[in-house]
Amino acid sequence: MQKINYGRMLDEKLLELQKTGEKPLLLLHACCAPCSSHTLLYLYNYFNITVYFCNPNIAPESEYNFRKAELKRLIAELALDVKIIDEDYNPEPFYKLAEGLENLPEKGERCQKCIAYRLEKTAELAKELDFDYFTTTLTISPHKDSDFINSCGGELARKYNIKYLFSDFKKHDGYKHSIQLSAQYNLYRQNYCGCIYSKNIKGSAENAERT
Ligand code: SF4
Repeated sequence: MQKINYGRMLDEKLLELQKTGEKPLLLLHACCAPCSSHTLLYLYNYFNITVYFCNPNIAPESEYNFRKAELKRLIAELALDVKIIDEDYNPEPFYKLAEGLENLPEKGERCQKCIAYRLEKTAELAKELDFDYFTTTLTISPHKDSDFINSCGGELARKYNIKYLFSDFKKHDGYKHSIQLSAQYNLYRQNYCGCIYSKNIKGSAENAERT
């Protein structure tokens, strides 16, 4: 089966919006400041963006609060007209979905459920608050399966009857740009994905150069 070029789909959508002059409302799920840096700048001229920090996977609580604070600092320092909706720390839904999957490697079933959960919360909120689109910063990460993220987003778009913005923010050196922006704004770049299970492999080659 031919691979879908989600990066091109995004660029075609941005071109279409540029032509119409429309600036739709976008609810952007954000996992952390580094992944949001390039993504926000890439989308900013085309959407009215609200960032949604919903990541019950992150542990411990101090890490959760620090990643959230870094995201807020980034948005303030970029001086963007972007609102933020954030959730208080509540890891229970994550531990429930991860039951029995604790020892799986990254990109396995636990990660799929973790990503699907966060995307679904974003779709639900976007629908409730009358956004035009929802999407996530997660496709910028080379550690994540963009095909899975996008197909999950597409399914949720059908379920909630709201548009999903297909993306591959790695394209056009997006990941590299996020690293440059992280250095420029002195952003905290975590060395594990987020959950306690990924933290426990900290120090491994896989975690050495994470976002
Ligand atoms: S490794 Fe990352 S994506 Fe996978 S379950 Fe943990 S936090 Fe979620």
